[in-house]
Amino acid sequence: MYRIGLTGGIGSGKSTVSSYLKEMGYNVVDADQVAREVLDIYPEILGFIRRRFGQEYFDEKGILNRRKLGDFLFRNRERLAEYESVILPLIKKEIFRRMEELENSGASICFLDAPTLIEAGMHKLMDKNILVWVDRETQIERVAKRDSMDHGQVLGRISSQLDIDKKKEMVDFVVDNSAGVEETKREVREILAKLGIFKGAI
Ligand code: ADP
Repeated sequence: MYRIGLTGGIGSGKSTVSSYLKEMGYNVVDADQVAREVLDIYPEILGFIRRRFGQEYFDEKGILNRRKLGDFLFRNRERLAEYESVILPLIKKEIFRRMEELENSGASICFLDAPTLIEAGMHKLMDKNILVWVDRETQIERVAKRDSMDHGQVLGRISSQLDIDKKKEMVDFVVDNSAGVEETKREVREILAKLGIFKGAI
């Protein structure tokens, strides 16, 4: 199976590209979705969060408030590192289990959509990697609008990731998502054609 990593910075348009790939019928493993689902697969993670960070990250029904935990962790780098040391190995394990499942079912191509593909070193396990890129100003504006965050909250999340311009040097293809979505989709089709895996008309 041919494995293609898809990454970006927060708000660069990775989910927009990922949805387009799914629409066209490609298999996409979504690391964010896995990150949410590992909490169900490994309930001990919730126990760890409760013990280590406190009950205040859960509502009265015991449901984790991911947004509140995120706000806390992105302001406390040591705690973020501690949280990631517990959760990242489980996320990676589940991602590769899902990819293996796809391969065993006969899939010939699979995308891995992961915001921290490069930070987690998973890009090295892919055959090719694609980065969805936008300039910093656009990135901040789009996240602030999408997630109703102020610029401080957005910057906290951006600075927890490797600089998007550094990521450019570590991938095989860059999609510039600064213009409209239609232009982005055209660039994606071009990359797929270069990889020899696009069957439609460009
Ligand atoms: P990511 O998955 O990288 O965090 P998204 O795909 O969610 O980013 O895009 C961030 C926000 O910007 C979303 O609200 C999305 O609708 C919007 N967006 C994405 N691409 C474009 C574009 N080319 N032009 C305008 N808005 C866009």
